[in-house]
Formats: sequence, structure tokens, C-alpha cells
Amino acid sequence: MHIWPTYIRTRLTLWYIAIFSLIMGLYVSAACAIQYWELNEQLYHAEVQDMETVEGLLYFTPDGRLLLHEEYHSRPGSRLLLDRLMEVLDPNGAVLFRNEKLNGLALGGPPLPQEASVSHYASRMRIADGRHVLVVSHFHPVQGKRVLIRLAYSTEPLRRRLIELLVVLMLVLPLALIAAGFAGYRVAGKALNPLAAMADLTEQITATRLSSRVPVENPNDEFGRMACVLNGLLERLEEAFQKLQRFTSDVSHELRTPLASIRSVGEVGLQQSHSDAEYKDILGSMLEEVSRLTSMIDTLMTIAHADSGSIQLNRTVFPLMELIEESVGVVDVLAEEKKQTIFVAGDSALSVSADRGFLRMAVINLLDNAVKYSPVGSTIHILLELSTQERRYVKLAIADEGPGIPISEASRVFDRFYRLDGGRTRDEGGAGLGLAIAKWSVEAHGGEILLDSELGRGSAFTIRLPAV
Ligand code: ADP
Repeated sequence: MHIWPTYIRTRLTLWYIAIFSLIMGLYVSAACAIQYWELNEQLYHAEVQDMETVEGLLYFTPDGRLLLHEEYHSRPGSRLLLDRLMEVLDPNGAVLFRNEKLNGLALGGPPLPQEASVSHYASRMRIADGRHVLVVSHFHPVQGKRVLIRLAYSTEPLRRRLIELLVVLMLVLPLALIAAGFAGYRVAGKALNPLAAMADLTEQITATRLSSRVPVENPNDEFGRMACVLNGLLERLEEAFQKLQRFTSDVSHELRTPLASIRSVGEVGLQQSHSDAEYKDILGSMLEEVSRLTSMIDTLMTIAHADSGSIQLNRTVFPLMELIEESVGVVDVLAEEKKQTIFVAGDSALSVSADRGFLRMAVINLLDNAVKYSPVGSTIHILLELSTQERRYVKLAIADEGPGIPISEASRVFDRFYRLDGGRTRDEGGAGLGLAIAKWSVEAHGGEILLDSELGRGSAFTIRLPAV
């Protein structure tokens, strides 16, 4: 069974009370121990003083009995003196004197060696009637004879004082614990308030209300930091969500155009009868749109896989020049149609470790753009070289003599569905996914893709990949 409370506030309070009790327990024990030690010291010093008084009052009668001048009772130094127990022995252990208060009981047996070892030897004992006493022993000559004087006082008053102290402390302790528990509960509640507020607010956040933020009272304390982290998370979620929404609407928009075109071509075809050649034309243009749609859907599938992180790169080491030549072979037909020349130069021995398929896709997309957007009869330069500036990487530059890309658009051209449409018709360009795919592919290989362009003078896209 689960008995530990689930609420942090209650748990904190219980911990607080437990720790407070422990500290109070230690405090009470220390206070009692110090008090006991001090009282003991006082008693011992009183006894040592009394010993000096007693020494002067002892005398032997002519018949050899040891007696005590009794007049000291008239000036007792302390109330304790009245309860003095006293015994005097000769060095052989024969009892020379015992006072009345002792009722004939012994304060220990014959002299012990340790009693002679220090001037005033202190020991505790329980005498035959059950009283606990503190005995101070001292050897002293009385009229030339060496005797052992033992003085003892009951430690009962000392014990009583201690118990009194303990009772007082024990009476106060529960009150202190209740007060501490109450205060702890309040403090814990106050400290945890921001957490409750955060939970309430977070509960209200839904996919459509991702713009809400958790209030941050003090960004430097723990809750403030947590609120900031939560807000950061919300911000990223909101961004991702907006991106997804934008992507979905872009996809729908892009799909609608070829579909509408297929439909209108079909409708025109059905409106009246046509010759076989005309029907072939109609079907041909419909198929063209279908193949455009198919390739876009293929690209979208690749993007979806890339986004979900489920694409596994199948890396092999191969000379990059090989792949460049292959890619040039793919766009060659288009370039020839536009009477463009493609120059390839560079180190054929440079190899990379990459997924051939995905890297080829990136290079073809860049080459395809260069051909597509450059004027008839222009030249495209491809240069492959090794750079050893900061770290070793392979640099593949594709430069064209096309219209160029304004600096302000340089980073946006890599966004999905982003097209620079000024003066470029839709027929000429694609869906605006080519550069996005190329960027993803290069980055997945640990590289980067850069754009250097001047409006009206051409663009140069550079792929940088770690060298092997
Ligand atoms: P698209 O399929 O439309 O070519 P991309 O993602 O490949 O899409 O390119 C995005 C946009 O960047 C293009 O619409 C085009 O306007 C611009 N662009 C890409 N490459 C070039 C280039 N070599 N020269 C001029 N503009 C380019």
C-alpha cells in the first residue's frame, strides 16, 4: 500500500518537521549534557572547598578518637553543606570518623590506589541506602597523622534540575513542532504556487493555442528557468506546427495546379470530337502533368522520410568526380537543347563517403537549376577541389551565368516551395522543392551548401563535404 503522501507540499512539510525534530532533539540533548556537566563541576568545586573547611575542623581527642568541630554549621556556605556525608579512614582502611548523615554507611571500602594518585579524587557511587553520590577523596595530615577524608554529596538535586529542564523543553517542543509544521506548510505552499499556476496554464494549451506562454516571474530562480524552458518548447512546437500547416497548404496548392490542368485539358478533349492526332496531343499533355505530379509526390515522400528521420544513409567511399560526370550526363540533353556548355574541372581523385543516391539527387538538382535558369548559349562551370582552410573538406562549385538571386532571398531559396517568380514562369521552374532537398541531403552528410550570387551576373552554389 502506498502511504507516502503524493503531494509535494505535504511531503516537504513532513520532511521539514522531521528535520526540525532532529535538530531540536540534538539541541535538547546538547543543552542537557552541558547543564549536567556544569552542575557536576559546581558540585565538585563545592566539595573541594568544603574539604578545605573540614580539614581545619578535624582533631584527635586525647584518647585517640577523631572528631569534628561542629561550629561550622552556623555558617554553611551553601545549602548543600547541610547534606554533607563524610567519612575519614586511616591509610589501612580503619574507619576513624563517619558523620550522622551517613547513618553508619560506608563511602566505599579501604583506600584505593587511585585515591592517592590525585589531590582531590572524584568518583560517583551508590551508597547502601540507594542514594547516588559524588565522592571527593583527599589525603590530609591531622595532628601529624595521615588520614583519608571522603566527602560526598547526593547528586539527587542535580538530577532533579536536569529533569526540570527536560520537562520544560519537552513541553515547549510539541508547540515548536506544530508552529514549525504550520510555517513549513505555508512556506511550501507559497514556494510551489508558481508550479500550480504553470500547470493550470499548460493544461489550457492546445494545438490551436500554442501561442500562449507561461508567465515568468523571476527568470533566475528554478521555477523561472522551468517556465523559460517550457516557453522555449512551446515556441519550437508553435514554429513546427506553423511550418507543418504551411507545408500542408503549399502541398495542396501545388497539387491543385496540375490537377486543374489535367481536368481542363480533359474537359476540352470531351467537348467535341477530335482527330486521332489531336487526342494524342491531349493525352500527351495530360501525361506530362501526371509525370510532373508523380515526380513531385516522389520528392514529397523523400522530404517526409527525411523529416521523420527514418532515412538511413547508405554510405560508400567513391570519387566525387564520377558522380559529377553521371549527373552532367543526366542534364546534358536539356543543356544541349539550350546550347549551353558545361565545363568540368578539378581533382578526379577526391573521394567522399556518402550515400550515392542522395548526393546525386543534390548535385542533379543544382545542375538542373543552373541549366533551367541560365540563358541560351551560356556556360556552366563545375569545379571540384580540396580545401584545407579550417578543416579538410571537398568543395564542389556549380556556377552559372543566369539571372542570379538577390542577397535578400539567398537563405529563403532553400525553403520548401519557395520560388523566385520575378520574370521566371512556372513552366520553367519546378515546385520549389529542389534546393530544399539538396540542402537536406548535403547536411545529412555532415556538409553544408552555400550560395554566392550577384543579380544579373549569375549564381554559384557550393557544396562542402567532409573529405575522407
Ligand atoms: P524549383 O524546383 O522551382 O527550381 P528550387 O528549390 O530548385 O525550386 O529553387 C528555388 C528557387 O530558387 C527557384 O524557383 C529559382 O527561382 C531560384 N533558383 C534556384 N537555382 C537558381 C539558379 N541557378 N539561378 C537563378 N535562380 C535560381
